Amino acid sequence: FRAPLLPLVGADTLVPVLDGRRMRQANFDAAASAPALREVADRVTEALPWYASVHRGAGYLSQVSTALYESARERIGAYVEARPDDIVVITRNTTDATNLLATVTPGPTLALDLEHHAALLPWRLGAGSTVLTPAPTVAGTLDLLDAELARTPYALLVVTGASNVTGEALPVDRVVELAHRHGARVLVDGAQLLAHRRLSLAGSGVDYVALSGHKLYAPFGAGALVGRRDWLDEGRPHLAGGGAVTAVGTDSVSWASAPARHEGGTPNLLGAVALATACDVLAGAEHALDEHERALRGRLLAGLRTIHGLEVVRLWPEAGEPVGVVTFTVPEDPTLVASVLAAEHAVALRAGRFCAHPLFERLGLPAGALRVAVGAGTSSDDVDRLVGALRQVLSEGPRGRYREDGDRALL
Ligand code: PMP
Repeated sequence: FRAPLLPLVGADTLVPVLDGRRMRQANFDAAASAPALREVADRVTEALPWYASVHRGAGYLSQVSTALYESARERIGAYVEARPDDIVVITRNTTDATNLLATVTPGPTLALDLEHHAALLPWRLGAGSTVLTPAPTVAGTLDLLDAELARTPYALLVVTGASNVTGEALPVDRVVELAHRHGARVLVDGAQLLAHRRLSLAGSGVDYVALSGHKLYAPFGAGALVGRRDWLDEGRPHLAGGGAVTAVGTDSVSWASAPARHEGGTPNLLGAVALATACDVLAGAEHALDEHERALRGRLLAGLRTIHGLEVVRLWPEAGEPVGVVTFTVPEDPTLVASVLAAEHAVALRAGRFCAHPLFERLGLPAGALRVAVGAGTSSDDVDRLVGALRQVLSEGPRGRYREDGDRALL
């Protein structure tokens, strides 16, 4: 498969059934799960007639399916510019990838409290983890990490590639430099980042990256863990079963080396094809997408500034330009505001704490906030519609209105 280079902006790049305009819904929830690209749907449809067992059958279709699966693995690795010796394990999603890495991490892990639960919790099950509250500046946070890494011999430092709450991140090159200086490896949680911008393992020195297809405009089903071979070759198999072994006796097992070691069971061919196609398209559209998102994010922020009482959540105001994710607080219950926006304005966004409970606890926002994600399918009309709808809902005051209307209450 070779995906053509698409401009990747506008709803026409998405599959029609999920096209925002046909649904008459302005979708700002791609940070949770993005609509599928047309190119992804086309390549999956093309692969279906060839679909057969991967790594198992001798038949021609099985051979083609195996080749498609291994080609997908290669292209996923190429998207993150894996080093020649790196391993690409195809997983279900980022959560699956971080859980896999946690089982093979040979020591304690360090993270900041802004991480998604998928990047925090797996290490609580294993060799232990420490969670730090970052300083209010990037430089202060790097100093904090430096001091903690000097104090304790961590095996791994987990950092977000882009926060799913604010779109922000620490400068990855500096994080890698200081972690490696103290003998720790670095995992970048790429779930959000890679839908917006690329990451080069070879160029940055990042040791591992975890990612999810359904954030990258492929449907749910496949993700990946990409990175250094040794822990993956030596660690406990993630999914024990067929394909993960070279030989099994009644009381003996020879485990395969990675990636097969961690991919027990029949591989998800169509998920891998979808994810790899999304990677191909995103790789060819990086600059167009980045420009599109910067413009929309700027338009959104300008619009939000015109509405009284909204506050955009930023962790490090001096940090570089965040990716296309904006979270803000509202002077009403955010869940109710999101429900009214959906029901009355067909504007879809997400309310809550976005699987980042420790961060919201620190921010003192127990009810959470509203999150808007802009991406490939978002237009400037969508942004204007959101801003207009938000202004209207907040000026009318959803609570009072729905209380008066009695059983029209939405929640
Ligand atoms: N990390 C981040 C930053 C995320 O935004 C998400 C998804 N919300 C995850 C990890 C987990 O991804 P998944 O649900 O696909 O495993």
